Amino acid sequence: MAINVTKEWLYEEYVTKNRKAEDIAQELGCCKQNISYLANTKWGFRKRRRIEVGARIGKLVVVDPYFTKSESGHPVCLCKCDCGNDFKVRRYALTTGNTGSCGCLRPNQAPEHEHINKRFWKALRTNAKTRNIELNITIEYIWQLFEQQGRKCALSGEALTMNVDASLDRIDSTKNYDEGNVQWLHKNVNTMKWDFTTERFVELCRKITEVSHG
Ligand SMILES: [Zn+2]
Repeated sequence: MAINVTKEWLYEEYVTKNRKAEDIAQELGCCKQNISYLANTKWGFRKRRRIEVGARIGKLVVVDPYFTKSESGHPVCLCKCDCGNDFKVRRYALTTGNTGSCGCLRPNQAPEHEHINKRFWKALRTNAKTRNIELNITIEYIWQLFEQQGRKCALSGEALTMNVDASLDRIDSTKNYDEGNVQWLHKNVNTMKWDFTTERFVELCRKITEVSHG
């Protein structure tokens, strides 16, 4: 059926006023699909969610829309989930509506963005090879380790988000990537730890804390 609306009118109603396709269809006496077709397929309007402080997306409420950036430079928001969890998520996942909870909506299935990025794994392998370090662990093993650590930094206890701020550290950097010799750290902590042993690094941190607390 033909609907007599102009592109400008529909843009105003659908995007600017942010009305639902359903409501507009009702007003015009047509089907919701007619409106969706015109707006999305034919004219390519894009309804973008506003990701600002206090915005709600499913069970998530935005706390800081510009919290940090992912390894690939994408903005990452800090959200609070209704279940009480703090949750860091790529802004893009919120605008597209792909993510609506910290993962508690799907407890038996980790949300897609929480899995280890193939690029991360590939880079780890390449890097190890270049530096002549043996890699005797699997991607499954390091994912399990991440879960075992409660998705927290092994040294600082900070909450980690895979592919955002989680960094794999060799506990003893003179040894290889072996089971038992790796731990997940916050990327900033791993940068600071450099190639110190955990003991040496913690000792230095303690001294710094003591001196700075004077
Ligand atoms: Zn939750």
